[in-house]
Amino acid sequence: MNEFDLIARYFTRSAPTSAASPVTLGIGDDCALLQPTPGMLLATSTDMLVEGRHFLSTVDPLKLGHKALAVNLSDLAAIGARPLGCLLALAMPQVDEPWLAQFSRGLFALADLHGCPLVGGDTTRGPLTIGVTVFGEVAPGQALLRSRAQPGDDLYVSGTVGDARLALEVFRGTQSLSGQAFERARERMERPTPRVALGLALRGVAHAAIDVSDGLIGDLRHILTASRCGATIATGFVFDTDATSPTLKQLPTAAALDCALAGGDDYELVFTASPSARDAVHQAALASQTQVTRIGQIDAEPGLRLLDPHGQPLAQRFGSFDHFA
Ligand code: ADP
Ligand code: MG
Repeated sequence: MNEFDLIARYFTRSAPTSAASPVTLGIGDDCALLQPTPGMLLATSTDMLVEGRHFLSTVDPLKLGHKALAVNLSDLAAIGARPLGCLLALAMPQVDEPWLAQFSRGLFALADLHGCPLVGGDTTRGPLTIGVTVFGEVAPGQALLRSRAQPGDDLYVSGTVGDARLALEVFRGTQSLSGQAFERARERMERPTPRVALGLALRGVAHAAIDVSDGLIGDLRHILTASRCGATIATGFVFDTDATSPTLKQLPTAAALDCALAGGDDYELVFTASPSARDAVHQAALASQTQVTRIGQIDAEPGLRLLDPHGQPLAQRFGSFDHFA
C-alpha cells in the first residue's frame, strides 16, 4: 500500500454535501479551502501526541484517534470558537492497517460529533507521532482570552478533574483501584471530552477561560499571569462538590488534592465570570449539558491562595506538568 492509497482508504471521505459547510475544497489538492463566516476571526491551534511521551504503545488506536482531535477541540472550546475543520500530520514506523482503521474511526467519530471535518494533512514514515491542527471561528470581542479575568470574578471548573491523573498513577503503580473504578478513570485519561458546547455557551458570559491540560493550578496560573491578578481556591470543593468523582474522593486527602489540583489531561475548562453573571453561567451549563462548579474567586492581589475546608491556608505544595522541567 502506498502513501496515496493509505490516505484514500483511511482519511478521505466523500465531501460534505451541506451548503452550510465551510469546506470549499477538502483532501486531494495542494491546500484545503475553507470559507469562514464573513466578519469572524479564524481561531487556530495545534497539538502533538508523541508515543512514549503522551501515550503508551499499547493504547487502543480508536481512543488515540479520539484523543488526538479532542485535545485540539479543547483549545477551540477554551477560546469559545466554533470548529470549522482540522488537519492531521501523521508519522508512523510502518503501515498497520488494523491500527489505521481504528485510529481513523476514533478521529472521525469525534469530528462528526463536532462538525469538524478532516480537510487535509501529511503522512510520513517515522516514530509514531500525531499532530492535529484545528480551525474554528469566533466573533471579534467574544473570544474567551486568558487575559480577561477581573478581580472579584467567580472561578469555575467544568465537569470533573483529577481522574485522568488518578488513572496515570494506577499505571505507575502508586495507586490501585478496583476494576470498574479504574476503567472509569482510564476512560477519562484516554477519551477526554472537549467542552466545545460549553465554550460556545460562555461567549459573552465568561471573562477568561483555559482548558486543563497540565493541571488545574498550573493552567489557572496562566490566566493569573495574563490577567495580572491573583486567585483564591476553596479546596474543600475536591471533597464536597461534584467537580471530582466519588472514586477520587475516597483517596487519602493529600492524594485526592494532588490529583484534582495538579493532575493534567482532564481537558475541562477553568473560567472566570462576574458574580452578576451567576444565572447566565447556570444557563450556559444547562444549554451545553455540562456541569460547572464554582471553586473560588479572582483577587486583585497577585498569587494563588489555597484554603482548606476551614478557611486556613493549605500547606501542601503542587507542581504542574512541564515537558522540559
Ligand atoms: P503535498 O505533496 O502537496 O504535501 P500530499 O501528497 O502530502 O500533498 O497529500 C495529498 C493530499 O492528501 C493533500 O490534500 C493532503 O492534505 C492530504 N493528506 C495527506 N496526509 C493526510 C492525512 N494523514 N490525513 C488527511 N489528509 C491527508
Ligand atoms: Mg504533504
